Formats: sequence, structure tokens, C-alpha cells
Amino acid sequence: MKILVSGAGMAGLATGMDLTATGHDVTVIERAQHLRTNGSPIDIRGEALDVAENMGILRQLQDSRVSTTDLSVFIDGAGNVIAALPVQEINDTADDIEIAREDLARILHAGLDEHTPVVFGESIRSLHDDGTGVDVVFASGKTDRFDLVVGADGMHSITRRLTFGPEGDYLEHLGFYVALTDLPSARGEAGSNPFLNWPGHMIGIARYKNEALGVLNFRHDWIDYDYHDLDVQKQILFDTFGDHHEWRVPEILDAVARDPELYFDSVSQIHMDDWAKGRVVLVGDAAHCASNLSGRGASLAILGAWRLAQALRDHPDDLDSVYEQYEVLHRPSVDKAQAFARPGGDLVMPATHEALELRNARLRDMATDIGGAE
Ligand SMILES: Cc1cc2nc3c(=O)[nH]c(=O)nc-3n(C[C@H](O)[C@H](O)[C@H](O)COP(=O)(O)OP(=O)(O)OC[C@H]3O[C@@H](n4cnc5c(N)ncnc54)[C@H](O)[C@@H]3O)c2cc1C
Repeated sequence: MKILVSGAGMAGLATGMDLTATGHDVTVIERAQHLRTNGSPIDIRGEALDVAENMGILRQLQDSRVSTTDLSVFIDGAGNVIAALPVQEINDTADDIEIAREDLARILHAGLDEHTPVVFGESIRSLHDDGTGVDVVFASGKTDRFDLVVGADGMHSITRRLTFGPEGDYLEHLGFYVALTDLPSARGEAGSNPFLNWPGHMIGIARYKNEALGVLNFRHDWIDYDYHDLDVQKQILFDTFGDHHEWRVPEILDAVARDPELYFDSVSQIHMDDWAKGRVVLVGDAAHCASNLSGRGASLAILGAWRLAQALRDHPDDLDSVYEQYEVLHRPSVDKAQAFARPGGDLVMPATHEALELRNARLRDMATDIGGAE
């Protein structure tokens, strides 16, 4: 089949790799001018580890392992450690692999066949599915026709919007926002990764390899803003965190001001009854974003890509059967990951002083029970 994959994030790259390996003629397009590799390290867990092995990339993932989450601690405004993050509540198994986003993207990108280049700076402008193929008009003005279009273009997927309707029909805001900024001033520092809370807020530093990120999280109802406007995103962060001068908050906000690649988004989920319509099918966050609080977005992306490719291999001439198999095999993993995310906000950003105190007391008790982590 001649297949277009929209988006070169983890889902798009994995889909490109799996479909190319299955013998399809695949084109991957990415709106950005380069692979978007910033962001905090992400986890490959559970069944996704088996898929990684089948894809032939497990050893590379293991060799690139980092331990950012394991080293996370909650601190007070003076920088003193209050409690450790309960990683035993977060990880599926000890085999889980935490890996820098750039390393995962690099490994998946390298796994694409030489005949499957990623076309950067390109996006779908419109698509028309006539039942036998999909005519695509690209933002560049070029046109082409495909047997199948795979939307792997993230939570704000244009493929979903053009095929299934407005984002608002599928997006559930969980009540939080997240931002990640490059923090050059903290590179190379040793020790644990500190996170400071006040009610409804968390700000901290995540270090891995020789990199350092400022991490900002806060509770807020849905904010209507242009999510392509970086200046607006930064202003929201200044308004939210700017009154706080304790610990290293000003240093992190200074980094926000300087970062041309700041990552900022609502913590939301995508819920859809169907991930496919005609000759258009969705994978990864475009289909079923579970949010960063699930810690399972990248695993779901890799799993979904593999299951879709497998279904296309099992039913080469019958898209209905492809979609049915993809749905039956993948839906339970999605439901589990989406459910896992829900309590995550209360753990990392308790809403009130009382809830914060309770959380810290619980974590201190747990640390004592398991032998006195920090
Ligand atoms: C820059 C960035 C940083 C992130 N950081 C974190 C993090 O720190 N922690 C975390 O848990 N999750 C993070 N995520 C989300 C995480 O990567 C996903 O939840 C997970 O990996 C699933 O990946 P995905 O490929 O479905 O979606 P994404 O990783 O969101 O990838 C979607 C890709 O599609 C591209 N795209 C979007 N619109 C179009 C379009 N119209 N045409 C073509 N391409 C398009 C995007 O540029 C992106 O490369 C981040 C995502 C991005 C894009």
C-alpha cells in the first residue's frame, strides 16, 4: 500500500518503521523543520518492551537508559528534601526503560528504511477520501494520492480534525498544564532531581546525561490561547509563577524567557470511540493521548504502531478487519494508561496545603517502611 504518515513523533516514526518493514511504500511528513526531540525523558514499559524487542531496538533502548524519575525528590522552599517520589507506584516493572526523548527519536529515526525519509516542514492542508484512495493537498501546495493516511500528529492532530471533527469533541482537559524548558545553568550538577510544591503548583529540575530541564506544572481550568504562540505560553508561565522568589524559581523562569523551543501544553486526554474512518486511521496521542501524567504515552505510541502494522499484515485486503483487530488488541492498553493518569495530578501537585502535608507525610511513611529512602 502507498501510505502517508502525518507526524514524526514517537508514534509516527514507529509507524513508519513498522509499515516499511511490512513492505509498504511509506511517506512520513513532519510540520516542524526538524525532529522535535526536546522534552523530559519518557518511559518504555510493559508490553512495549516486547514490541521494542520485535522491532530490533530493545538493546539500543537499554544502552541509552537514564534514571531521572528514580532520583526525583520533593523539597521545601529552602531546598531541603521532604520526601522521595514513590517510583514503585509509578513503574510497571524493574525492566521499564526511561530514555531521553531525543535518544528514542534518534533510534526510531535511524530504524526507518533509507527509502522512507521524513519530509520536514510539511503538513496536510486537506484530504478527500473517495473510498478507493485519499487525495491529499499539502501545505506546500503539492498534491498526492494514498491508499491509507495514518494520523500520528499528536494531541492537536490535524488529521483527526479534518477527518473526525473538532478537537473539542474528543479532548478532556484534566485540569493541569505542563511546561518544560531547557535549563543550561543546571547542566552537569550532581545529586537528586528536586521538585518544589505549593498548592496546585510544582516546579523543579530534571537532569539526565549532561542535560537539565526546568519542569513547571500547575492546576488551571482550560485556558483559551493560540497554542502555536510561544510568547503567550511564556506569559502564562510568568503570570502563574512570577510571584515566587524562593529556591531556584527565578532561575527557571529566566530559562523560560530564553528558550526558543519551550514545550507547553494542557494535560489532557483524547477519547474516541473509533480510531479509524474510511482510509484514515489514527495512532499515538492523536488517537488516545493519555497525558504526561500516565507516563505511558510513548509506550502506547510504539504499541499502537506495531499493532496497526500487524493488523495490516494479517488482513492485507480488508480495512474493516484491520481496524477491528487494531481496536481489540490496543483498546485495553489505552484504557489502562488513561485510568493510570487520573490520580497522578494529586500526587505531584496536591491542590491545598492540607493535601500537600498529607502527601508528604504519606511519602515519608512509605520511605520508612521500605528502609528509609532520602
Ligand atoms: C516537543 C514535545 C515534547 C514532549 N515532551 C514530553 C514530555 O516531556 N513528557 C511526556 O510525557 N510527553 C511529552 N510529549 C508527548 C509525548 O511525546 C507523547 O505523549 C508520546 O510520545 C506519543 O507520541 P506521539 O507521536 O503520538 O505524539 P507527539 O510526541 O506529540 O508527536 C506528534 C508529532 O506530530 C507533529 N505534528 C503536529 N502537527 C502536525 C501537522 N499538522 N503535520 C505534521 N506533523 C505534525 C509534531 O510536531 C510532533 O513531532 C512531548 C511531545 C512533544 C511534541
